[in-house]
Amino acid sequence: MLLENILKQIKEHQEQIAYTVNSKRYTYKEFYKYVCNIYWLLLEKNNKKKPVLVYGHKDVYMKATFLACSLAGMAYIPVDVSFPEDRINKIIDEVNPDLIIGNFENKLANTITQTEIEELMNKDNFKDIEKIYLKPEDVYYIIFTSGSTGIPKGVQVTYKNLDSCINWLQKIIDVKEGTVLNQGVFSFDLTVADLYYSLANGIEHFVIEKQTQSDFNKLFETLKSSNATLAVFTPSFADLLLLDKSFNQETMPNLKTILFCGEKLLAGTAKKIQERFKNIKIINSYGPTECTFAITSIEITQKMIEENDIPIGIAKSDVKIYIVDENLQEQRSGETGEILITGKSVAKGYIGENKGKFIIYKGENAYLTGDIGYFKNGKLYYVARKDKQIKYKGYRIELLDIEENLYKLGYVEKAVAVAKQNKEGKVTKIIAFIKLKENAIKNEIEIKKDISTKLPQYMCPTIKIIERFPLNRNGKIDEKKLTENV
Ligand code: AMP
Repeated sequence: MLLENILKQIKEHQEQIAYTVNSKRYTYKEFYKYVCNIYWLLLEKNNKKKPVLVYGHKDVYMKATFLACSLAGMAYIPVDVSFPEDRINKIIDEVNPDLIIGNFENKLANTITQTEIEELMNKDNFKDIEKIYLKPEDVYYIIFTSGSTGIPKGVQVTYKNLDSCINWLQKIIDVKEGTVLNQGVFSFDLTVADLYYSLANGIEHFVIEKQTQSDFNKLFETLKSSNATLAVFTPSFADLLLLDKSFNQETMPNLKTILFCGEKLLAGTAKKIQERFKNIKIINSYGPTECTFAITSIEITQKMIEENDIPIGIAKSDVKIYIVDENLQEQRSGETGEILITGKSVAKGYIGENKGKFIIYKGENAYLTGDIGYFKNGKLYYVARKDKQIKYKGYRIELLDIEENLYKLGYVEKAVAVAKQNKEGKVTKIIAFIKLKENAIKNEIEIKKDISTKLPQYMCPTIKIIERFPLNRNGKIDEKKLTENV
């Protein structure tokens, strides 16, 4: 299984770079030392094997602790420093860990600070990993996602789930050498792909810190120095990079594949990437944290881009996807409905009592995603979140309907329609944030006039033209921030 393979890769790639962060590079030999030292510490200090909260921002001790936890038979909870304190305390109340690694204090658990763990993991006189304690059914990690209620939900992903995910990634990605470039924070399940794909192939994991991401000069220097062969991005992050002309093959000559996940990939984004990088492979993948990173994938072809027909792909072989209506009745091919997933990727459930949308379907564990989609020619297409439906002035409106009609105007590169609500949750206004195509010259009044020829008056949004969409900590569009000042 995965952990045996990782140990094998570590042994075979001792002198190669395992991890690069902020110009610091660590070989597999050094990384193994860190993992061993932390493994023995965990076995001693966390003998009840409760989940370990690992706090920080992409430091090497985080990745080493993740692996040490797994080898020592404990789940870990990755928590990025961008999480507000109150949210972390809620997580701690929920999980009740005995141990926190990183600079976060809570009286319910013991903290080993960053300085302490770094000192300890650097000890040269260390014992090898004695045994892999984690069993296939055990929880491998717990990732907290934002629940629609505002209370974070801890998704428990098992070793079996993750093992199946990485086996699948090995099949859909053919980059087996070089460097995997990371964008996301470790508390976002997008990074499961780069964290474990790198380890499973004994190749370099190159991470871009938040600070670097917000400084374009430094970011492009970093991209250049990464020598990345594979990148794991959200489409919004790629859009951000595409704003700069130097996001191209010259800057990243070895980049062979970009694996996208987390958000809708627009044909416009894929087209620009193809124009800037010759022979690049663009893979679109889809899935919620509750189904272990992703469960469908597809290579985006020129034809798909030209026809503006971007699927989210085909399911991995050990999961099954159903399109269902509100009564969980299966829809026919071509019909739109909610995406329901069964099979090996479906996580164990949330921590605590809340079952959420984990259900039993046809006798199997299933997850009802809240995503609307349909099948066409055997491929799955994503339409929107179910909750993009609103009520405004008594009318039922799909915000996506507004976005789609804006795209039909021909000059809109990206449109995000959001509903502004008052304190009682009543929608008071619909606003469409728009980024225009490069050569388009249109102002907000003109767009409003154009859209009113396509939509009924009550659906016509207030138009705001913007240059750049704000991103949340996971690198997806931050709709909350968008509406803050309007
Ligand atoms: P997360 O659990 O943070 O990974 O978010 C999962 C959600 O992101 C899914 O339920 C979808 O709504 C959305 N998502 C993920 N991948 C894609 C994709 N390729 N296209 C469209 N939406 C996606």
